[in-house]
Amino acid sequence: MMEEKRIDVLGLPVDLLEADSALAMVEECILERGLLQVVTLNAEMAILSRVDKEFEKILLRSRLVLPDGSGVVWAARRQGRKVKKLAGVDFAKSMASRAAERGWGVFLLGAKKAVVEAAAAQLMKDNPGIRISGVQDGYFQSEEEAAEKVRSAKPDILLVALGVPRQEKWISEYQEKLGIPVCMGVGGTFDVLAGTVKRAPGLMRSLQLEWLFRLYQEPWRWRRMIRTLPLFVWLVWQGRKEGAS
Ligand code: UDP
Repeated sequence: MMEEKRIDVLGLPVDLLEADSALAMVEECILERGLLQVVTLNAEMAILSRVDKEFEKILLRSRLVLPDGSGVVWAARRQGRKVKKLAGVDFAKSMASRAAERGWGVFLLGAKKAVVEAAAAQLMKDNPGIRISGVQDGYFQSEEEAAEKVRSAKPDILLVALGVPRQEKWISEYQEKLGIPVCMGVGGTFDVLAGTVKRAPGLMRSLQLEWLFRLYQEPWRWRRMIRTLPLFVWLVWQGRKEGAS
């Protein structure tokens, strides 16, 4: 019997897919002019969703939830599943590469102006011929103006880096109105592409210690992580699905 690709981690969906299968969903969505919100799930988001019901609804509705965080991968493996981490930054790069092959337009929304511009330049360097429909930094005054800029660019794929949960909520509010087939919240991906934030070395990544490297680079994350990670681990251990507080 084929194993179910979608599993449940603390009441949230996680799709155990190889990048190729996830890309196939993206492609199908663009061809059929459907709507697909791609979510990259980590432990912090799982905990946040227990107190932020609007955010939880968005996660539950998403048809593609990638196991991005080591905590989520660990939780999925405890269910006896073979799980490969699919980091948001890697999937965003894969989508960009496919976009260049297929001629899809990609819009980058979020991060500081210099960062989003450098990220777009990097994508163009890595994927010759890619169509960048536009860029917009994430420190805009008017939500409506930013949305209008995206709408008139008519991208096939919109990458949104506004931080969690704002980026997921932004997508949920605007995707349908703007008619963009594929939208994905990408967190710090533009900073990585622009080189302002470094990715962990390969060895640390393969040991699932990317989060540790991130803490070393961005120590202000300690407080957030300390509030959420132990709770996530405890809840998974308990196998509980209801009531975080
Ligand atoms: N960001 C933004 N506007 C804001 C807040 C954040 O564009 O009002 C950008 C920020 O510059 C960064 C990205 O959102 O490039 C992701 O931020 P962070 O790494 O804190 O995301 P998280 O860890 O919450 O996913």
